[in-house]
Amino acid sequence: MNVHRLPVLRDNYIFVLHCPLMGIAAVVDPAEAEPVLDCVSSLGAQLVAIFNTHHHWDHIGGNLRLWQAFPNLMIYGSKQDEGRIPGQSVFLADGDSIDFGERVALTISVPGHTDGHIAYYFPPVQPVQGGELFCGDTLFAGGCGRLFEGTPEEMVDSLDKLRRLPDETRVWCAHEYTLNNLRFAVTVDPHNSELYGRLRVVESARARSQPTIPSHLGVEKRTNPFLRWDSPDLSCQFGGHDPIRTFAKLRGMKDQF
Ligand code: ZN
Ligand code: FE
Repeated sequence: MNVHRLPVLRDNYIFVLHCPLMGIAAVVDPAEAEPVLDCVSSLGAQLVAIFNTHHHWDHIGGNLRLWQAFPNLMIYGSKQDEGRIPGQSVFLADGDSIDFGERVALTISVPGHTDGHIAYYFPPVQPVQGGELFCGDTLFAGGCGRLFEGTPEEMVDSLDKLRRLPDETRVWCAHEYTLNNLRFAVTVDPHNSELYGRLRVVESARARSQPTIPSHLGVEKRTNPFLRWDSPDLSCQFGGHDPIRTFAKLRGMKDQF
């Protein structure tokens, strides 16, 4: 399975998944249809599925136009988003699996940014390779999504599910927010030398307009403050060693950053 990354709107990414062997493609969070149609046609593939992570407009905007172009495609989303995702035809619950070509996607329920937010995880074919995680607006490179519909408890629980995946997992998040996220991260985690190194790499990538997505989950676990609610450095300073309070405090500070 090859992943093609399409930058759209201000800072969104659409991901086109391509299975060359079977000549099929799927798309994650099509904010717009045109770039997806162009990509799929240049691949000579047939679009068979839309994977929506949540109902926000910048993740579903292209659904109906793509459905028009490929009337047989399946439109996946959470069962909790019923009525909020245009054209939705499959209503997923935590743990549900979806076949795509030779790969399988597992549904992970990750409420917090929205109630019905889900992530799609494709386990690796061979353990050494690392799987692919499409996490929408839940986990970002160096950050996490805002809490629009959920509580800090829910978001910590959701991020903890993602944190349990292997370090080699590639993290395909839906926005290019990494530079701003890391600039915040160094203010709350100033003794993390790997974080400073990452900030320098990302600064130079963005200065050349290069994408910072995908990242690797191992790097996120070590440098993303929103996966480090229980690290002694952060939890002592921001939450009196209480993981939920630590997370909530950091999220509140980031909202003001
Ligand atoms: Zn969103
Ligand atoms: Fe978004």
